[in-house]
Amino acid sequence: MNRYALILIAALILSACRGQNAIPTTPAVVQPEQSQVATTGLTEPVVLTPTTAVADTPTVPSAASPVEVAENTLPIECTSPAAASPAMTEGPYYTPDTPERTSLIEPGMPGTKLILTGFVLDTNCQPIANAWLDFWQADANGVYDNAGYTLRGHQFTDENGRYLLETIVPGQYPGRTEHIHVKVQAPGSRVVTTQLFFPGSNSNESDRIFASELLVKIIRDAGDVVEAEFNFVVEMP
Ligand code: FE
Repeated sequence: MNRYALILIAALILSACRGQNAIPTTPAVVQPEQSQVATTGLTEPVVLTPTTAVADTPTVPSAASPVEVAENTLPIECTSPAAASPAMTEGPYYTPDTPERTSLIEPGMPGTKLILTGFVLDTNCQPIANAWLDFWQADANGVYDNAGYTLRGHQFTDENGRYLLETIVPGQYPGRTEHIHVKVQAPGSRVVTTQLFFPGSNSNESDRIFASELLVKIIRDAGDVVEAEFNFVVEMP
């Protein structure tokens, strides 16, 4: 057998091996029923690292991401393993036993309408159905209703792990930039208390609690209506 025949045979063998290990190029589609417990084993408490801006992480360009929950839904911006959303102080204004509702807007309520949507995900970017979210916030003037349930309400993620909150953009109050408080609890997991913030506020940097990981992403700002998105990532036991 001459040299050229040997080279040809070697090339054919190499080509066959590559064929067996070919990586499928079809993007992974996650079915809701495939949601599973995170297996990362992360148990350490969440530590705020202001220099890590999760909210600013660009969409992953690889073919396997972003994860799609189902047809006709927007891709989820999440890279596995994802960092859990950091916990924040509850503050003095939480009221338990809030009404279940997705809209906190009441007739005549002043302010800029805010439509906030997103998912509750585990650290593997799997959507979590039936996760509990309890929101509370100040009104447009920075005042909480501590006697009743104005601008307070809880809801559960749907079968695709998605939530939708209709509310107003909260006002500032002394020492605090605009923020929405929220408690999140995935079924079988612990309650995570945190806060959401708004990009572009001139008070973010002077707010000692502010964390860029918890900035919502503005999808559309039509002046009187703002649409924003935020995905919560929770650690599962
Ligand atoms: Fe507050």
